Amino acid sequence: MQFDEIIKDTNFSDADKPNLIDYSKQYNDFDWNRDAYSKLEWLPDGGLNNAYECVDKHVKNGYGDNLAMIWLGKNGEEENYSYTDFKNESDKFGQVMLDLGMQKGDRVFIFMDRLPELYFAAMGILKAGGVIAPLFSAFGPDPVKDRMLDAGASYLITSPDLRKKISPILKDIKTLKNVIVVNKDNRFTDPLDDGDLDYNKLMSKADNKKFKMVNTSQYDFSIMHYTSGSTGKPKGVLHRHQAVVQQMLTGHWALELSHGDIYFCTADPGWVTGTSYGMIAPWTNGVTQIIYEGGFGAAKWYEIIEKYKVDIWYTAPTAIRLLMRAGEDVVKKHNLSSLRFIGSVGEPLNPEAVVWGERNYKLPIHDNWWQTETGAIMCANYPSTNIKPGSMGQPFPGITMGILDDEYNELPPDNSGILAVRPGWPSQMFAYWKQDEMYNSRFKKGWYITGDQAARDKDGYFWFQGRADDVINTAGHLVGPFEVESALIEHPAVAEAGVIGKPDPIAMEIVKAFVTLNPGFEQSSDLRKELIRFSRDKLSAGVAPREIDFLETMPKTRSGKIMRRLLKARELGEPEGDISTLEDD
Ligand code: ATP
Ligand code: MG
Repeated sequence: MQFDEIIKDTNFSDADKPNLIDYSKQYNDFDWNRDAYSKLEWLPDGGLNNAYECVDKHVKNGYGDNLAMIWLGKNGEEENYSYTDFKNESDKFGQVMLDLGMQKGDRVFIFMDRLPELYFAAMGILKAGGVIAPLFSAFGPDPVKDRMLDAGASYLITSPDLRKKISPILKDIKTLKNVIVVNKDNRFTDPLDDGDLDYNKLMSKADNKKFKMVNTSQYDFSIMHYTSGSTGKPKGVLHRHQAVVQQMLTGHWALELSHGDIYFCTADPGWVTGTSYGMIAPWTNGVTQIIYEGGFGAAKWYEIIEKYKVDIWYTAPTAIRLLMRAGEDVVKKHNLSSLRFIGSVGEPLNPEAVVWGERNYKLPIHDNWWQTETGAIMCANYPSTNIKPGSMGQPFPGITMGILDDEYNELPPDNSGILAVRPGWPSQMFAYWKQDEMYNSRFKKGWYITGDQAARDKDGYFWFQGRADDVINTAGHLVGPFEVESALIEHPAVAEAGVIGKPDPIAMEIVKAFVTLNPGFEQSSDLRKELIRFSRDKLSAGVAPREIDFLETMPKTRSGKIMRRLLKARELGEPEGDISTLEDD
C-alpha cells in the first residue's frame, strides 16, 4: 500500500496492533494495558490524540489554571501560559488548519525557534489530525528542502527571518499549499512574502469555540522526525498517536514528572527529545515547562534553574561536558537546591560526568537510552534504582532488550554484541518514510536491531559501547569508542574526545583519538605523549589510542552528537557523505 493510502485508511485491523500483551507477560507485575493504556484519558468519541492528553485533559480535570509553560525569550521576555490558555490557543490554531483544508495525515513542517507559537501550532495541528514535522531552526535551505520534498509537505509554519533564509527553495516544494508566518511581537517589519499567511491575523479571526477535535485513532500518524544523521543520511521516522502511552509513563517513571513540577528540557523540538520529552511526556504528566528560546549558556541555564526553582532537568552529554568545561565556580554562584532529578540522553554519558554532577549538583546524572525510532525511553537509570556510572541502566517495564551475536541469536550476560529490542513497544516507529527496505532490514529473527553495540551485566544493566559502525577491530579485539573517550576525558586537559578505527595493515585497525582541550591547556607533543600514557594506564595497551590529534572543535550533529564517521572520512581523505546535520563551527 502507498503511504498516502495508509494515511487515509484508519481502519487498522487487529493484526496491526503491537503485541503488547504477550510481551508484558514476561513481567508478572507489569501490563501495558492495565498499567499504562488505562491511565490515558482517551477522546470522548473513543479515539486517542497526543494533544488532547497533553492539554485538554488537564482542563477537563480541573487543572486549567495550572501553568503549562513559562516562556523565556532570548531578549529577556517572559510569558506565562496556563493549561486553559494553551487549550484556547491550540484550539484556535486547529481551527485555522481545518479552515485551510488540512486533511488527516497531512505533513505540516514547523521551522522556527522555540517560541510559544511553535507549541500552540504543534498541539493545534495534532488536534486537527495533522502530522507535525519539526525542523531545527539552524538548518540552511538545502536540508529543509530535502526533508520537505521527501515528506511531501503540505504546510509550513515559520518565522519571518527563517522564511527569508529558505525563500529560494520553497517554489520547489510542489506539494506545499500554504506558508504561515509567525511574527512574534512584531519583531520584524515587513514579515510576509507574497502569498504567505500571517499567523497573528489568522489567530485573531479564528474561533476556538467552533473548533471540534478530529477523532484520531491510536493508529493515526502524529509526528514525523528526521534522525540526527550521526551514521549517514537522516531517515524520516513516522510515529503514531499511541506513542503517547509510553511517553507519559516513561516521563513519570524514568524522569519523575508529575503535576506541579517545574521541568526544564534543553532539547530543541527539531530533534526527537524535544518533542517526546520537550512536549508530550511533560505535558501529559501535567508539569510546568520552562521553554527557553536561547541556546546553551552555563550561567544562563543555572540562573533559570535558580530563579524558577526547576525540579527536573533533562539534558544531553554534550551540554554536560560543556558545563564541566565552564567549571565549578559558576555552579557555586547559583543556588540549585530546587533540583530533584537530572536526566541525560542522546549519547553515552561518561562516568566522569556522573561523578562531576554528584559533586557539583549534589545529585547524580541519570543516563537513559532511546532513539528517534523508539519514540520514547527504553532503558534507564531510574530515580528508584542505583546508578552504575557509565551504564545506560535497565529496560523499562514491558520492554525486552537483548544482546545478540552476528547471527542475531541472544547472548548470555557479560557478552557484548548487537543491541536489540523485541518489537511491539507502544512508541515503536511505524515506518521509515518511503524506505520500506531499510525499515525491514532493521528486523531480524523477531528482534528490532538498534544499530548500537552494547553489553549487559549480570544485574541486567546495559552498557553502551558504540554504534555498530563505530566499533573498532584492533589486533583481534573489539573496542568500543566510548570507553576510550571516557578514559581520555578523565584527563584534566581534555574537554571532548572522539575515537575511530584507522585502517592498519597489521592490526586491521588502530585506535585513533581526536581531542579538544579545556581552557588553559596548549596543544603540544608532550601533552600528546602524556595523554597516550594516561590512557594506557586506564585502559589496556591494546585498547588505548595509538595516535592522538588535537582539534579546535569536535565535529558534531546539530543535536550535539560527535560525528565519528566524519572524523574517519576526514582522516582517510574520503567523501564526507551527508553533512546536513553538521553543526557550524
Ligand atoms: P542517525 O540514525 O541518523 O545516524 P542518530 O542515531 O544519532 O542518527 P537519534 O535517533 O537522534 O539519531 O539518536 C539515537 C542514537 O543515539 C542511539 O542509537 C545511540 O547511538 C545514541 N544514544 C542515545 N542515547 C544514548 C545513551 N544514553 N547512551 C549511548 N548512546 C545513546
Ligand atoms: Mg540512529
